[in-house]
Amino acid sequence: MATVRHDWTYEEVKALFNMPFNDLLFKAASIHRENFNPNEVQISTLLSIKTGACPEDCKYCPQSAHYKTDLDRERLMEVEKVVEQARLARSKGATRFCMGAAWSDPKDRDMPYISKMVREVKELGLETCMTLGMLDNEKAHALRDAGLDYYNHNLDTSPEYYQQIITTRTYQDRLDTLDNVRDAGMKVCSGGIVGMGEQAGDRYGLLMQLANLPKQPESVPINMLVKVKGTPLEDVEDLDHFEFIRTIATARIMMPHSYVRLSAGRTAMNEQMQSMCFFAGANSIFYGDKLLTTENPEADADMNLLKKLGMNPEKRQDYSDEAYEASLSSKIADKATSELFYEA
Ligand code: SF4
Repeated sequence: MATVRHDWTYEEVKALFNMPFNDLLFKAASIHRENFNPNEVQISTLLSIKTGACPEDCKYCPQSAHYKTDLDRERLMEVEKVVEQARLARSKGATRFCMGAAWSDPKDRDMPYISKMVREVKELGLETCMTLGMLDNEKAHALRDAGLDYYNHNLDTSPEYYQQIITTRTYQDRLDTLDNVRDAGMKVCSGGIVGMGEQAGDRYGLLMQLANLPKQPESVPINMLVKVKGTPLEDVEDLDHFEFIRTIATARIMMPHSYVRLSAGRTAMNEQMQSMCFFAGANSIFYGDKLLTTENPEADADMNLLKKLGMNPEKRQDYSDEAYEASLSSKIADKATSELFYEA
């Protein structure tokens, strides 16, 4: 079994990342197999519960109020509407429901609504995840008490490149939020974005930061930048796809027990590229046709790809909701006819 290390050095990460490609993939795939079923992928659905007008200036983000993009702003969604979307996601096989709000941080007045959302989505038998910006200790505990399982807060990039991407909050602010989430007893979802014009060393630096956290994140989203018109990064040079696959493989080796999520940017990846990412150790995807505000592959296209690869959506073992169990059983029974799923 691969041991979890928290003392990775820059030189070690660099050497690992730059191994001959086949050796790197073989190593990553071997570690993946030791820790997970390599033919299963965890499926999450992400819903934007409050869109746009964010005071932060993240240069990749169409939701920042600092940039002029085509995005329509939306106020905080009503709890009933969120629950309706969660029910829909559940009926399509999602096991985790992530809710994202374009905030710097949730304000006191928002907390009762947010907590109610968490409670009601959880009652559907789904795992709950939120991404709401920075979180202080008190709010982290309040969300935990409401039943929140995961909190997403990405480190985005290396500490060295960070200043080129965001100036309205510091790297330390991000680490503090992750500390508060851990302290409250929630699981951490934290990763980053590649293809933002960073150097290779920044990709090593990001992975080093994530792996060397006191406890590695349970979930590590690796995003390929989606270039959105109107954001400062709209014309940044494309990242070579092999660099992206190497990032996934290196993340898998350094964080052997974490779910490595193939996140934003999948629409720009063909099936073969995505398959190579799965081989390299990615074992989680977002499902549905929107990822917060950017396009995501059609849900059916995802299921068809999994079928071609002989892969299945991972199922949770602890469903609390009988209706959900019944709906999943019927879905599995329908697999042969619907061809949406594949039973390995
Ligand atoms: S990434 Fe999040 S914090 Fe940054 S501008 Fe977008 S919504 Fe705001």
